[in-house]
Amino acid sequence: MNKYLKELIDVSLLDKEIDLMEPKIEQIKRELNLKLYHKETKNLDIANLQEQKEALRLQMQKSNESLHTQGARLEEISKKMSEVKTEKELKALNIEEELAREQITYQNSEINRLEAQIASVDEKIQAIQEEIVKIDADIVEIEKDVASALEEIRKEQEVISKKKAVIVEKMDQKIVLFYEKIRKWAKNTSVVPVYKQACGGCFIRISDRVYSEVLKGDDIITCPHCGRILYIQED
Ligand SMILES: [Zn+2]
Repeated sequence: MNKYLKELIDVSLLDKEIDLMEPKIEQIKRELNLKLYHKETKNLDIANLQEQKEALRLQMQKSNESLHTQGARLEEISKKMSEVKTEKELKALNIEEELAREQITYQNSEINRLEAQIASVDEKIQAIQEEIVKIDADIVEIEKDVASALEEIRKEQEVISKKKAVIVEKMDQKIVLFYEKIRKWAKNTSVVPVYKQACGGCFIRISDRVYSEVLKGDDIITCPHCGRILYIQED
């Protein structure tokens, strides 16, 4: 086989190996991303609960204000009572007093109800915060694993890149440029074997003339249909 073609095949295989490490890196980061996403959803849960709590707090504030108003009203009524002149006036004041007391009873029970609800929301928030602490601890562990796994892959990549650099340095630079140009669009299928007289990249059958040239292996032959570099796989 032509020396240049042999080098091209070697370089393309090394490029493929380097590229295949990217999905490996993604896979390693996947678990970490899942945990981070999990934490994010927990934080959203807390934000929602805090909104609920704020709404309850506002309701409570209104109830307290109402209590105040009714208290002031009672005081006023008792003052008026001491100055009452007719039976009719007394009756009207009694009704007013009763209404104020009803309101006070109602607002007090509202305040109790709201306090219990706020306490339950607080409990939920605390439980989620405890979960987040656990998730954070997991994240620290996973981050350590990810860092060491990535370090391994980086080392592997370096070894392969060096191997490639050694070959590329000795190669005819015109051929290297030609290969890089094809690689821009064909990626890891820039240099492909011929199977059953068809291009291993576009799978279209090549003519007997081109096929015999590829079989000879004297030259760098490209697929007439797609332009990928062709070779015969020897096993
Ligand atoms: Zn082709």
